[in-house]
Amino acid sequence: MDKNLNENQAQGGENRTELEELGEFGLIDRLTESFSVHNPQSTLKGVGDDAAVLQMPQGQVQLVSKDLLMEGVHFDMTYCPLKHLGYKAIAVNLSDIAAMNAKPAQVLVGIAVSNRYSLEALEELYAGMRLCCDRYGVDLVGGDTVSSRAGLAISVTVIGYAEPQKVAYRGGAKENDLLCVSGNLGGAYAGLLLLEREKREFLANPKMQPDFQDFSYVLERQLKPEPRLDIVDLLAELNVVPTSMIDVSDGLASEILHLSKASDCGCMLYQSKIPVDAETCKALEMFKILPETAALSGGEDYELLFTVAQKDYEKIKDNAKIKIIGHMVEKAQGTFLVPENGSLIPLTAQGWQAFNKR
Ligand code: ADP
Ligand code: MG
Repeated sequence: MDKNLNENQAQGGENRTELEELGEFGLIDRLTESFSVHNPQSTLKGVGDDAAVLQMPQGQVQLVSKDLLMEGVHFDMTYCPLKHLGYKAIAVNLSDIAAMNAKPAQVLVGIAVSNRYSLEALEELYAGMRLCCDRYGVDLVGGDTVSSRAGLAISVTVIGYAEPQKVAYRGGAKENDLLCVSGNLGGAYAGLLLLEREKREFLANPKMQPDFQDFSYVLERQLKPEPRLDIVDLLAELNVVPTSMIDVSDGLASEILHLSKASDCGCMLYQSKIPVDAETCKALEMFKILPETAALSGGEDYELLFTVAQKDYEKIKDNAKIKIIGHMVEKAQGTFLVPENGSLIPLTAQGWQAFNKR
């Protein structure tokens, strides 16, 4: 049954056009023709020649990042609609540029695809990519298309720009800096748990209809994450350059450890300050998972985690989009989760030690 659902998507619904019918160039044309150019100043030549030609905005530096997504490893065709997958493939790359306090402008997309997929299926994938590109003003300027014998692979390269003095690295945090996050955590993990449960139930009884009532927010967090480019704009408006920054793709604990290590600092994270949304808590309760466990270890929330110097406290303290959840300390003090009772629980990449022992 798993296979059936999977196949439905790959087939692309009722009309199925075989990829061989189009050939490589026909396919590339069909997939890329409806993309428009948002950045004519920097995108001098996009798809259609041997290479794209890009103009670097004056006085800015270029940032480049890449992600590779493999069917069966990074996404599951049973519950990930192709349009959402396309959107997410672009969104997570834009998030990496946002995490440097920069703005993305171009992407390149490589796909390896088996003949199990139809033109219509790939058009769905690209429709999702286009939605995300249009939403964030990013140009698709090239890529590569090859055939695969096993499943779908999607590789996205993103190019962004920033003024060099505004780029936020992982290693810039200093003792006493405030630790901030751009939104609530644990939602994407709650969404994944729901989708996995529905998959198990579907495998047992294919006639069953999914019961996703009341959980649209967490499902969206999992299937259609948004890169927090609004935070890059907000920080610029507030005239704040974060001393360090990272996006939360692997869970808060792991990202805090990255910032602390790269910055040669320790960190105190206040448990009561970790933002978890009410719907997320409700979903997690069904799986008997504590909200802080999902926030610390869940991942894929794509919020921005950053540090701000004390001197900028007044500028951020009343902003609803920025939550202060802790502060950096001397390296020798270590990196801890601090519960209400004031005890210190060492943070580990898996979450925190107490969680592992349970
Ligand atoms: P080459 O043979 O020189 O590698 P291709 O035929 O692979 O060129 O690509 C032709 C054009 O289409 C190039 O501009 C390339 O960047 C673009 N392109 C190829 N595949 C994709 C894709 N999957 N998505 C977007 N652009 C693509
Ligand atoms: Mg090529």
